[in-house]
Amino acid sequence: MRLSRSIVGEQEAEAVRRVLVEDGFLGMGREVQAFERELASFLGVSTTEVACVSSGTAALHLAVAAVCEPGDEVLVQSLSFLASFQAISGAGAVPVACEVLPETFTIDLADAEVRITQRTRAVMPVHYASNPGSLDAVYAFAEQQGLRVIEDAAQAFGCTHAGRLVGSFGDVRCFSFDGIKNITSGEGGLVVSGDQTVMDCVRNGRLLGVERDTEQRYQGGRSWVFDVHRQGYRYHMSNLFAAVGRVQLRRFRQEFAPARTHLASHYRSRLKGEEGLRLLEADLNAVVPHIQPVRVLNGKRDAVQDALKMRGIESGIHYKPNHLLTFYRSDQLHLPVTERLYGEVLSMPLHPGLNETDVDRVCDTVLDAIG
Ligand SMILES: *Cc1c(COP(=O)(O)O)cnc(C)c1O
Repeated sequence: MRLSRSIVGEQEAEAVRRVLVEDGFLGMGREVQAFERELASFLGVSTTEVACVSSGTAALHLAVAAVCEPGDEVLVQSLSFLASFQAISGAGAVPVACEVLPETFTIDLADAEVRITQRTRAVMPVHYASNPGSLDAVYAFAEQQGLRVIEDAAQAFGCTHAGRLVGSFGDVRCFSFDGIKNITSGEGGLVVSGDQTVMDCVRNGRLLGVERDTEQRYQGGRSWVFDVHRQGYRYHMSNLFAAVGRVQLRRFRQEFAPARTHLASHYRSRLKGEEGLRLLEADLNAVVPHIQPVRVLNGKRDAVQDALKMRGIESGIHYKPNHLLTFYRSDQLHLPVTERLYGEVLSMPLHPGLNETDVDRVCDTVLDAIG
């Protein structure tokens, strides 16, 4: 049983075929523009507030580059996908590793506050397992400290916070459409912000910094005479990928969201209250979970992972804390909560291709192994 997989089929294949045979324009053009229009409408924002890019990592990288100068510091939880850290360091900024709250694996603001310096420019909350956690508190903290907020909402597409869609409000919000996220475009990402200075940086930045090239491309052309004011990247989305993403967006509310929340609630009902396990807090009326982590206590995580493997069930460890990686390590830095949670966390299979019987088989194995 696979930990995760893309759920794509004939509809996506047909959409890709249409783009392939339609007009031979596979770069960034009309299809991407249409995907942006539909994403903006899904989120309830203006099309000027969204920009599709080549990956979630690219979205984060461009977002950081838009708000930070080289050397600026960004507060970010260590317990996140490597992409959060690489996006920050890739923009020449410095990721400052923070603790998470054990209940949600979202950023511990009390710990983050202690790490503020003259150079702190932004905070990057990561919506771990699709849970935006105390996002209101993050914004209150940022306002109080004079910081920008770059949301790593890679896992949180289609989730709500206090009744509002994640991505529909806030400062700079970044999503991923990689193969296994809540919706996929094959590979892809999205930046959302009402700050047009940021959006201009992102739109130009995805096309090598070429100014206002986006408008040309959406009319099937490109700029031949142009100027560049800052470093850019080849981070635009292809029409082929946008075609896949458009189909996935249409399938999200009817198919993917209910399937994911149903499986997650079945996991919870089977594992809730078990001694030796801790579920993370999440409101499944608001969160569409991308992953299904659990904490395995009493040093039994590896034994549970082995037991699952014996039964042909994949599991995952989300994530190795970034401050333990050689590239980001410093001898002075210890994050005891994060390091403990790293030894406990285990993700069980979750994707819309699974059913209740699959979840039961996983849970039986886990419960047997913690015995
Ligand atoms: C998937 C993910 C990313 C990166 O997105 P890609 O599209 O894979 O580049 C960043 N942060 C988190 C938390 C993710 O889960």
